[in-house]
Amino acid sequence: FGLLMTNNKHIYDLVIIGAGFAGLYSLYKAKLAKLNVITVERASNVGGTWYWNRYPGARCDVESMQYSYQFSNELQEEWEWTEKYATQPEILRYANHVADRFKLRQNIKFNTEIKSAKFISGKNHWELINHENQLIETKFCIMATGCLSTLNKPKFKNLKDFKGEIYHTGNWPHHHVDLKDKKVGIIGTGSSAIQCIPEIANEVEHLYVFQRTPHYTVPAKNAPLKYLRGKSKKNMREPIGYDNDLFVEEVKYNYSSFRLKAQNSVAAMALPINQQSALDVSDKRRKKIFEDRWNKGGVPFIAAFEDLNFDRKANETAAKFVRDKIKSLVKDSHVAKLLTPDYPIGCKRLAVDSNYYEVYNKSNITLVDLKTNPLEEFYTKGITTSKKHYELDVVILATGFDAMTGTLFNIDIEGKNNIKLKDKWSEGPKNYLGLASSGFPNLFTISGPGSPSVLTNMIVSIEQHVNWIFDCINYMKKNNKKLIEASSDAEIEWYKHNQEVSIDHVRSSCSSWYIGANIKGKAKNFMPYVGGYSKYVEKCNEVSQNGYEGFILK
Ligand code: NAP
Repeated sequence: FGLLMTNNKHIYDLVIIGAGFAGLYSLYKAKLAKLNVITVERASNVGGTWYWNRYPGARCDVESMQYSYQFSNELQEEWEWTEKYATQPEILRYANHVADRFKLRQNIKFNTEIKSAKFISGKNHWELINHENQLIETKFCIMATGCLSTLNKPKFKNLKDFKGEIYHTGNWPHHHVDLKDKKVGIIGTGSSAIQCIPEIANEVEHLYVFQRTPHYTVPAKNAPLKYLRGKSKKNMREPIGYDNDLFVEEVKYNYSSFRLKAQNSVAAMALPINQQSALDVSDKRRKKIFEDRWNKGGVPFIAAFEDLNFDRKANETAAKFVRDKIKSLVKDSHVAKLLTPDYPIGCKRLAVDSNYYEVYNKSNITLVDLKTNPLEEFYTKGITTSKKHYELDVVILATGFDAMTGTLFNIDIEGKNNIKLKDKWSEGPKNYLGLASSGFPNLFTISGPGSPSVLTNMIVSIEQHVNWIFDCINYMKKNNKKLIEASSDAEIEWYKHNQEVSIDHVRSSCSSWYIGANIKGKAKNFMPYVGGYSKYVEKCNEVSQNGYEGFILK
């Protein structure tokens, strides 16, 4: 740290925790605002989620032309994505490019983990302690710590006895992992596993997939992106789709209107939403619409009709379409049945895949149904279920994350009156607009619980949050305010609203990490704001235009 480290005389204006997409943009804005700022990051480089999740097959399933920053026209003009869905290495290159292009690295301290953050009321600032017990003092804190950054590692009996290799998809090694000709077991069938399984099935001797709950997935129909390379850009139109060779150029030509569509949407994504009800069209027409969406690929499938997320009967038409697809794609009817979910589609996050269902037709893959054949324990050579021993060289845990609050709770955050965030949120996170919690002045959470975050295109949501926070800091400066804190009434009202809008939403219709169901002992309530991105932004803007209504400024 040298000079950057506090020595009781030096107090930062702002410390940003995390150098993923949220942390990088926060740092960019802080430098622009000429704040005395430092970012601390536990990894040895930038990228956040894309630094850690480097398992085979990792990609973003938001289209690359949308999963990118829009704060700099030059950046979005110059960067060239190569595929419809970017791979993890490409996204990581992009994060590195942003860090270099905007000269952000000089303010980032890597390999530094914050262990605790305590608000000192008498001094009106935060004291952070890092892993080496060094003190960092700051007036403001931004928690850019990510929503999916603390691993869920279930406590499997005798896991430590296993003599083979163990990896978690969310903390994949940086060196090459050789799976060639090995017997590999993967536990979990969420989005990460669904990307990883088809990729590694080609390499391993045998792959055992340990499935507790089947997951819905739709084909990505990934493709390379095409560029005009100096040819005439005459006759450019609104971008209409990837099957059009001019798509990228059209997006670039009309980037602002393309971005505006995302800004005005529910998921911060320019999605072609069909405004019809699935129940207002004939069976034949409905099937054709689903088939077209399936063939085009990706999450637009769930926008095939406007009521799939709210009307259970409408939802069932989409669920049945996918169930029929599974039946037709997977040759072994018993395996097909095991892969078929029985809950509404879109409750657990819809996955996007490349040959997921098809991979089960290979002879070197076995689906182990943990519902009828529960995982009992590990032993030196593998996994024992109630029916069988599975001898394995490698086990991959694709068991997800302690989402949204896990990382915040791992930092011992203590606010006013010695209240710990972990205790305050023990029955669910009360976080006004997903941005700030009462009793924790000058501490902001980016894409925190109570904001649309993981239900949206994250980079768009991140930019909105960061812009709002820096407008707020600017307002405080102009109005000579030193402290901002959410009021307890406002956060409780927001929390209630958040729970209310989730009641009828498909996302509440099964157990998922959105409600903390994957972590034993975690409070069960809906964490991200499901009322829609554009409505959320309207509310944030209303709050700031009304002099930060619901916040107490001092
Ligand atoms: P996940 O969706 O939480 O899936 C975890 C899987 O592990 C589930 O199948 C779960 O089964 C299983 N599991 C957990 N504990 C288990 C246990 N004790 N025994 C057996 N099985 C167990 O995690 P993920 O796949 O890492 O995805 C998390 C989120 O990351 C996604 O929802 C998405 O938001 C994000 N993500 C995005 C992308 C992308 O953009 N391309 C890719 C990957 C991930 P149950 O369902 O029965 O709990």
